[in-house]
Amino acid sequence: MIYPEEFKAYVRELAFKCRYVTNHDEYDLKIKWEPDNDPRDNSHSSTFASIKADSVYLWATISVYPALLEKYEEGDLRGIGESILHELCHLFIEPVDLLYRWDVSSSQRNYFNDTVERQTERICKAIHMRLPDDWFTPKALGLESSASGHPGTIEASEIKTTSSAPENALALQSR
Ligand SMILES: [Zn+2]
Repeated sequence: MIYPEEFKAYVRELAFKCRYVTNHDEYDLKIKWEPDNDPRDNSHSSTFASIKADSVYLWATISVYPALLEKYEEGDLRGIGESILHELCHLFIEPVDLLYRWDVSSSQRNYFNDTVERQTERICKAIHMRLPDDWFTPKALGLESSASGHPGTIEASEIKTTSSAPENALALQSR
């Protein structure tokens, strides 16, 4: 999977904006461009993005999957905005996730994962409701020149991708 530069620039700016509106500026944020869709995907669900983070050393890596590019090609920018915002909102839940993720019994694991997901999405919705209706558009992200109305040349700062994460990092998976 080769991700188009225009898409990558869009997602980068979106991620930085989401880091700002969720007040997580202290995190060193990177984006990893996954070559394949999440192997856990099935006919009922696709993973658009996921996040791994370490709240001690303050880094976060958002993994982007080909399913997110499909949304982009379909023109579903609102959906992409919500997906990336959702991932940054996982950082609010992270302390609870870290405390209990490895201690919940297997019978409770689905309930625990569902609760983490549910609360993350509620926070995401609460923030989303307070943002302008067009906050996720290329123009609002400064990616379009106001004169032409077409996407201009993008000079987004390069974000390094990481192929592996420290073993003690909390893996926050989402769907
Ligand atoms: Zn999630």
